[in-house]
Amino acid sequence: MILMNDFKAEAKEMRQAMLGAVGRVFDSGWYIMGEELLAFEKQWAKDCGVQYGVGVANGMDAIEIALRSLKISKGDEVITTSMTAFPTVLAIFRAGAVPILADIDPQTGLLCIDSVKRVISKNTKAILLVHLYGQVREMDLWSRLCQAEGLYLIEDCAQAHSASLGGQKVGSFGEAGAFSFYPTKNLGCIGDGGILVTDNEGIYKESKCLRNYGQSVRYHHPELGLNSRLDEIQAAILLERRKWLKEFTERRQQIAARYRNEINANSLIQLAEPLEEHSHVYHLFVLLCKNRELLIDHLNKNEIQTHVHYPVPIHHQEPCRSLRHDPKGLVEAENHANMCISIPCHPQMTDDDVTRVVSTLNNFDL
Ligand SMILES: *Cc1c(COP(=O)(O)O)cnc(C)c1O
Repeated sequence: MILMNDFKAEAKEMRQAMLGAVGRVFDSGWYIMGEELLAFEKQWAKDCGVQYGVGVANGMDAIEIALRSLKISKGDEVITTSMTAFPTVLAIFRAGAVPILADIDPQTGLLCIDSVKRVISKNTKAILLVHLYGQVREMDLWSRLCQAEGLYLIEDCAQAHSASLGGQKVGSFGEAGAFSFYPTKNLGCIGDGGILVTDNEGIYKESKCLRNYGQSVRYHHPELGLNSRLDEIQAAILLERRKWLKEFTERRQQIAARYRNEINANSLIQLAEPLEEHSHVYHLFVLLCKNRELLIDHLNKNEIQTHVHYPVPIHHQEPCRSLRHDPKGLVEAENHANMCISIPCHPQMTDDDVTRVVSTLNNFDL
């Protein structure tokens, strides 16, 4: 079976490095908020080209804490896409704010700027932009819109570690960027983890307080925060895994380049090309297909695993049915949800695996 992710096939060298990192933490006798966390926060902020990083328990908390650090709360509206992972929207609810849903551009699956313009209201405080599948596009347009409307731009970078546009890394375009280190992400922990990055000193200080119960100095709690910290063990593991991120990203991009060139079945539609070499890190390789269920069967019969990201758009999720959305509807998100399929694209795939995925797809019409 060609899997969507294959951690057991990772290099022994990396496994040894991670075990060494775990040993380091055991030997230190310090398990929460110590040297490993500080080192990783500093490193990841630098990787993103910003000043500050604040390690947290997961990607969803990173978004919630970013919003709360900007004092976005009850009655405030945050605009985001209906085609995203549920935690993007759950984080807005958790912050006490109201998610407002806009439609996507069918060529990319990313938030559509015209749709966003149609839902901006006097209560709108921020746009939460998701770099879906690993893509970053048109950041100048988003920055300009936010500036013109007096809105904060917050980036959900959970799928886009190290993606860049015009030499600028994701996480550094907006007021804050939120990353997840869920195991399947391009950079993952052996468990849950996340980080918030920012150049804004106010957000930095506030988010350090919020992740640790809302504690300012020891035993003083000026506000109600969360318990959302990145463990020393996970930070130490991330410091090691990060050393493979560049190589892994390049491998994902190579596989994607072959898929782009070689997949030619008439019934399969490719998404738009990335704008630049580094502007897509292919967390997921997604195709569109009108007969998706048949295609999934065909691939499974040929021992190829697939997933769908995402079969149910946010506005069809039970707690989100009554959310305000684009008055023109969310038709593109619905079409995308009905047709999208993710095929294996991970760094442990061999060239032969890629060839087999391509030929199986190209046989689909036969
Ligand atoms: C994975 C993911 C998240 C949430 O990350 P967790 O670490 O699981 O909380 C948020 N947004 C997007 C787009 C994701 O893919």
